[in-house]
Amino acid sequence: RGGEKVTDCVFCSIIDKEIPSEIIYEDDKVIAFKDANPQAPIHFLVIPREHIESLNSIDEENLELIGHIFYVIKKLVKQMGFHEEGYRIVNNCGEFGGQTVSHIHFHVLGGRKFSWPPG
Ligand code: 5GP
Ligand code: ZN
Repeated sequence: RGGEKVTDCVFCSIIDKEIPSEIIYEDDKVIAFKDANPQAPIHFLVIPREHIESLNSIDEENLELIGHIFYVIKKLVKQMGFHEEGYRIVNNCGEFGGQTVSHIHFHVLGGRKFSWPPG
């Protein structure tokens, strides 16, 4: 599965299909699924199969994985046809960053205009 399953991790359970989700893409390294509480008309999450807590836990051996995640996002966004109008990618890291699930994930939000700064 690409690393140890963390039993109390909701995203590890989604990877192992113990918790149902609307998976839109999967390969040997990552899966993408719709966010259960969407903040935009399009809102999905891309996560590595390997349980990595947050960006703080990334090291050199994960660099290819992070690059792969962004390349998957680019391809999905293009396939889904909202690459031209634009979109937002978000990584919340740690308590002050608003991270609620301790398995690194990248939010992809689209289908509406976003403001900046995020607040
Ligand atoms: P965070 O706040 O950690 O950056 O984002 C966690 C995201 O995971 C939230 O947007 C939340 O809606 C989503 N989420 C939490 N639990 C589940 C779940 O069981 N299924 C799905 N599809 N999304 C979830
Ligand atoms: Zn996990």
